Amino acid sequence: MTDKTALIPVHKSIALVAHDHKKDDLLEWAKYNREALSRHKLYATGTTGWLLEKELELHITKMQSGPLGGDQQLGAKIAEGEIDALIFFWDPLDAQPHDPDVKALLRIAVVWNIPTASNRSTADFLISSPLMAEEYERKLTDYDEYRQRLNQQYGRKDEG
Ligand code: PGA
Repeated sequence: MTDKTALIPVHKSIALVAHDHKKDDLLEWAKYNREALSRHKLYATGTTGWLLEKELELHITKMQSGPLGGDQQLGAKIAEGEIDALIFFWDPLDAQPHDPDVKALLRIAVVWNIPTASNRSTADFLISSPLMAEEYERKLTDYDEYRQRLNQQYGRKDEG
């Protein structure tokens, strides 16, 4: 167990992503939840972000399109503690050219224990949670042992 935590602030940074066949679903969901979303800082992969910005008339920080690296950019922001929640409507019925990036994004969201919704009902539960309007101490797995093992293996003195 760990006592490491990271703070999710009241005003959260939320990443939104939808695969092509799920974009209408996400747009409809986001439109319905526009007011709740407007209280937070929004990020998205390129095409999803462009569509959301048009639909919601809210500013969205847009990454590259997913297949061009957008998922990886969001993953990097999660690892750097810049993104607090991920709403990712991925398509379970269609092969994606950037499948490794999709898996990596979902994996890194678990590594850093950020709330993640992969479908609409989970997104509904997430957005309506009282925790969306509060600070939240997100528990982090203690990776120091992992780092120390590597440091020992390679005779490295510093941490990280
Ligand atoms: P897009 O990317 O928003 O640029 O379509 C989504 C994805 O990761 O497939």
